[in-house]
Amino acid sequence: MQRYSFFNLLRHAATGHRSWQPAWRDRPLRQIYDVIIIGAGGHGLAAAYYLARHHGISNVAVLDMGWLGGGNIARNTVTIRSNYMRDESIPFFVKSVSLYERLTRELNFNLMFSQRGMIDVIMTPGVLRQIRRRMLAMHLYGSVYEPMSVAELRRRVPALTGGGPGSRLPIMAAMLHPTAAVCRHDAVAWGYARAADDLGVEIHQNTEVKALLRGPGGAIAGVETSRGTVSARKVIVAVSGHTSTLTETVGLRLPLQTYNLTAFVSEPVKPVVDVVVNCPDLGVYVSQSDKGELVIGGALDVGQSFRQDIKQGVFENTVAALLELFPSFRRLKLLRQWGGALDFAHDATPIVSKVDIPGLYVSAGWWGGFKAVPAGGMTLAWLAANDAPHPLIEGFGLGRFRHLDYVIETGTTSSR
Ligand SMILES: Cc1cc2nc3c(=O)[nH]c(=O)nc-3n(C[C@H](O)[C@H](O)[C@H](O)COP(=O)(O)OP(=O)(O)OC[C@H]3O[C@@H](n4cnc5c(N)ncnc54)[C@H](O)[C@@H]3O)c2cc1C
Repeated sequence: MQRYSFFNLLRHAATGHRSWQPAWRDRPLRQIYDVIIIGAGGHGLAAAYYLARHHGISNVAVLDMGWLGGGNIARNTVTIRSNYMRDESIPFFVKSVSLYERLTRELNFNLMFSQRGMIDVIMTPGVLRQIRRRMLAMHLYGSVYEPMSVAELRRRVPALTGGGPGSRLPIMAAMLHPTAAVCRHDAVAWGYARAADDLGVEIHQNTEVKALLRGPGGAIAGVETSRGTVSARKVIVAVSGHTSTLTETVGLRLPLQTYNLTAFVSEPVKPVVDVVVNCPDLGVYVSQSDKGELVIGGALDVGQSFRQDIKQGVFENTVAALLELFPSFRRLKLLRQWGGALDFAHDATPIVSKVDIPGLYVSAGWWGGFKAVPAGGMTLAWLAANDAPHPLIEGFGLGRFRHLDYVIETGTTSSR
C-alpha cells in the first residue's frame, strides 16, 4: 500500500497528483470465498479489516448494493462517546473510543479525529437523576463524566444564551464527557476499505444481495446477488437498517424495528461551538465541523420507516429546540438535510450474534453505531473467526431476548 505522508504529497505534487495508486481495487467477483460480508458500511469494512489483520482470513468479499460508504456511515453526525449506562455496554464503548484514538495512525488515513468533549445540558430532575446514575456506572469502567455548573457551561459555550431562569425550561445542570470526539465519517469507511484491500480483501460495489442461501443441512451456503450466486460457509450481515429485510429471506425474524434518524447543517460560520452540545430534554444536539458548518441532529421519527429524508414536523421540532438553547442561531441559513434508516433492537442495545443458522452472523441495532465501528468491527471479526463471542460483546447476543435478560440502553441519547 502506498503510504500517505507529507513527503509523498510533495513528491506527487511534482507530477500533478496523477500517479497515486487507487485506494482500493475493482476485481472480478469470484464464485466462492471463505467469508462474505454484506454491507460496505463502517461495521462491514472494519470487520473485513480485522478478519484479515487479526485472524489471517483474507479470502473475504465485502458486497454492497450501492457504493462503498454510501449508507449510514456517510449520514451520521460523527459523535463518538462512551457515556452509556449498562455494565454490558460501557466497556465496549470505552474500547471503541480508545481504538479511535489511534486509528488515524493504524490505517495511515487522516480521520480528522478531534477529541473535543461533549456537554449534556440538563433541564429536568428526571434527566438529572438518570445522568447522575450514568456517571456513577461509567466511573466503574474508567469512562469520565464530570458535573459542570451552569455558570461554567455558559463560560465554555458563550453562544448558549437560552435556557435562562425565566425560560420555559431553565437549565439546571450540565455534565461534561471529556473523551467524546468527532471525526470525519467518510474517512473511516475509506480508511478501513483501503487497509482491508491491502490485506487481500475484495470489495464489490453495486452488488446487491437479494437473498441468503442455506445448504442441504440447513447451514448457510452463500448469497444470491444481482450478479449471480456466491458461496461461502460464513456470511456476515452488516446492513444497518436493512437487516430484517435480508434475514427474512431465510425465515429468520429478529427483534428489530427500522426508524428514520435525521440531521441537517447550517452554512459555514467562524468557530462558535468547540464541543458537542447535547440536550436530552429538548431532543437536540449540535457540533461544528472543520468547515464551519453547524451539524445539528434531533430526535428519532417515532413511526417505523425506511425513508432517507427528514419529515417536516421532525425538522421544525429540532430547529425550535436548537433555538431555545442558541437564540442567535435564528439568523443562520440551513444548507442540507438528510436521513438514514436505522434498526433498533427492542432494548436499544446492539445485536452482534450468531443465529440459529450455522455460519450466519448478524451485526445490527446500531442506532448510534458510528462510535462503535472500531470495536464493533473487531469483535464481529472475532465472532466469525472463532464462532464464539468476544468477551466485549457477550451481552449483545440474541440469547438475551430468549431469557428476557434485556440490556436496556434507552435514554442514553437524545434520539430515544
Ligand atoms: C442522521 C444520523 C445521525 C447519526 N449520528 C450518529 C452519531 O452522531 N454517532 C454515532 O455513533 N452514530 C450515529 N448514527 C448512526 C450510525 O451512522 C450507524 O449506526 C452506523 O453507521 C451503522 O453501521 P454501518 O456504518 O455499518 O451502516 P451503513 O453505512 O448503513 O452500511 C450498511 C451498508 O449495507 C448496504 N446494504 C444494505 N442492504 C444491502 C443488500 N441487500 N445487499 C448489499 N448491500 C446492502 C448499504 O448500501 C450500506 O452501504 C447516525 C445515523 C444517522 C442516520
